[in-house]
Amino acid sequence: MPDAAPTSPSSRPPHPGPLAAPAPVLRTDDTATPAWALTQPPAEARSPEAVARLAGLLHDHPGTIVLTGAGMSTDSGIPDYRGRDGTRRVTPMQHGEFCASTENRRRYWARSFVGWQRFSRAEPNAGHRAVAALQRAGVLGPVVTQNVDGLHQVAGSRDVTELHGTLAEVVCLTCGDRSPREALQRRMAEANPGFEALVRGEVADGSRVSSQIRPDGDVVLPDEAVAGFHLAGCLVCGADTLKPDVVFFGGSVPRERVDHVFALTDAAPALLVLGSSLAVMSGLRFVRHAARRGIPVVGVTRGPTRGDEHMSLRVDADLAPTLEQVLAARGRAA
Ligand SMILES: [Zn+2]
Repeated sequence: MPDAAPTSPSSRPPHPGPLAAPAPVLRTDDTATPAWALTQPPAEARSPEAVARLAGLLHDHPGTIVLTGAGMSTDSGIPDYRGRDGTRRVTPMQHGEFCASTENRRRYWARSFVGWQRFSRAEPNAGHRAVAALQRAGVLGPVVTQNVDGLHQVAGSRDVTELHGTLAEVVCLTCGDRSPREALQRRMAEANPGFEALVRGEVADGSRVSSQIRPDGDVVLPDEAVAGFHLAGCLVCGADTLKPDVVFFGGSVPRERVDHVFALTDAAPALLVLGSSLAVMSGLRFVRHAARRGIPVVGVTRGPTRGDEHMSLRVDADLAPTLEQVLAARGRAA
């Protein structure tokens, strides 16, 4: 598997710096198994010593910046986009597709309307709580998350940057008006009385709707059910162009948000990646930036990640127990 071997730092071309970086578009051409996903973290990443080293490193670098991904929220019932092999298991709505037609937006919102009932009830798990506790203890600094579920904030974390936005807010692509998702959910319910019961009860076992919620909060619905869904228009301009305030695949992370995270990374003593395979450049670019700065980059994620070559320490273990051990070590050191 020679093409899966990590490149040495000296063989990489010099980076032009964050301001010259290409537009941060979430890429979508990764449905085949990528080479990095065929690698394995080193065996020592699964040893108890790795967790002890992690605790020592974090306590030596107070204020470490944290970058979290979908693996953070799987224990809250929100699944990852990817399997262990790094391939995408579901094909989410693309940005261009969403903007292209009323019918595509109808498909998105019909599925999202049904999925929201479950997504909005998700609660923080022990991993989120451990991150918040380590922040309060001064071990961890700012949190940057690729998740759109808001669970870090619910768990009590402060200084959270939502790299890909939040599902809790809606923005109008025509006039720019912003509003809470909960209000839109109520309006969609009024415009579609009985819709959820209809799609759930279509067959005897209620299985017409997939019970599998997606990471972006929607579910799979058949086309004929979608066709009967009434969109809710913007309350300010009337257009049917309301979009959740999240970055879809094929969309761009706002430049100022990217620059803010580069600045946070520049100020941080180390970078900790939690529950992300770093498959999309929107997160990987900060790992590369930290590695170029020469600060320690450490990662706790099950399975391979696209950023392993940049990490000085890798822990291949479940998040919550690992973070709880780091917290306990802090207690012993204090
Ligand atoms: Zn509008």
